[in-house]
Amino acid sequence: MKQLVIAIDGPAGAGKSSVAKQVAQALGYRYLDTGALYRALAWKALQRGLRPQDTRYIIEMTRETKVDLLQQDGEQRVLVDGQDVTEAIRTPEVGNLASPISAIPEVREILLDWQREFGRHGGTVAEGRDTGTVVFPNAEVKIFLTASLDERARRRHKELLERGISISFEQVKLDMEARDQRDSTRHIAPLRPAPDAVVIHTDNMSLEQVVEEVLKLCRARFTNEAPPST
Ligand code: C5P
Repeated sequence: MKQLVIAIDGPAGAGKSSVAKQVAQALGYRYLDTGALYRALAWKALQRGLRPQDTRYIIEMTRETKVDLLQQDGEQRVLVDGQDVTEAIRTPEVGNLASPISAIPEVREILLDWQREFGRHGGTVAEGRDTGTVVFPNAEVKIFLTASLDERARRRHKELLERGISISFEQVKLDMEARDQRDSTRHIAPLRPAPDAVVIHTDNMSLEQVVEEVLKLCRARFTNEAPPST
């Protein structure tokens, strides 16, 4: 059967990671968390004491950084220069710096090649902000997941508390709003649905319902792609 590329984009907290992981598992595909790449760079920049305006150093740093996404026991591990940073990149501080770093064109260019290489043979569920618009414009299935700001902030707040990160709901909401604004208005690869993406509003949907909806769209593509029977 043809190995598809499935691109799932949307704002922070829309449920992309949970949905993408489950869809990848159901189809036996590889999961590509593109946000983890920007977060990995932000983590390293923080270690070096770099600020968002240190553009030249951030670009240099990106060129010399090796990021690996490994699939281990059904989980994705993120390595920066061989060091496992899977948990360390999930802090609000890293997320907040990932956003301005991701607006640097040279950084996006370097990561673009990396991402396309990952998905070259298909069989990939990619999630991020521009996977359907820029990274994989020919993806067979494109989804734009979204939900209201309150609902997304509520989900992210719960997730952070579960990870032992203490932060107020209001702060999560403010950070999220600022990040969405920056991600949607930047010049390069802004957050927006691809013209051929199916938009799913997840406010009143369970994770299972969203996964089923995406799998339904995938199955429809499998049927379309199937060679004519002889
Ligand atoms: O999805 P996640 O919250 O991990 O992404 C962190 C940041 O990385 C986003 O706020 C966004 O600025 C950036 N990003 C991006 N393009 C992607 C994925 C993430 O610009 N494809």
